[in-house]
Amino acid sequence: MKISCACGEVIPDQTDFIPYKARFVADMDWDDVAEGDVGERLWEWSRCMWQCTACGRLYVEDRQGGLHCFAPEKAGVPSDLLGSAHGDAWKRPLVGNWRARASGGPPGELWWGFGVSDEGMEEFSRWSDLERRYHEVFERLRDRDVLRSAFLRHEGRIVHEWPGRAPEGEVQTGTFH
Ligand SMILES: [Zn+2]
Repeated sequence: MKISCACGEVIPDQTDFIPYKARFVADMDWDDVAEGDVGERLWEWSRCMWQCTACGRLYVEDRQGGLHCFAPEKAGVPSDLLGSAHGDAWKRPLVGNWRARASGGPPGELWWGFGVSDEGMEEFSRWSDLERRYHEVFERLRDRDVLRSAFLRHEGRIVHEWPGRAPEGEVQTGTFH
């Protein structure tokens, strides 16, 4: 989905780990969430909000899925208002993918989060360049202890994975859209 902000900016919501998006739980339900084993029910109990990175407006979802817009009273709203509690120490995924594209665009992509200081989205037209860069970024993020998971995929086949092979069917495929 995409939200068209009143300022003219488009707020995309098409990936995971969005730094300008948060989920919230009503204070009336908070004890149940904090103390219970809520699991899947958290999806039912929580709603979303998004912040426009250009103007700071907040879009808050109601219980029916409608959106309500709130504009900041003053300037100076932090741009990472809805970001991770861990800030730049947030553990990010590293995803390297190589696949021939019908569109003719570069077949290689490397992504390691956004909205944090060490972030990236790069494209490659040579496999060896993608592979070299993947390992470079992988070692840096792992050594800084800011890595959640990593994999490098070549035409659908996993050629490197950290911290070990995920069970079949659990390999993330939803990062690029
Ligand atoms: Zn805006």
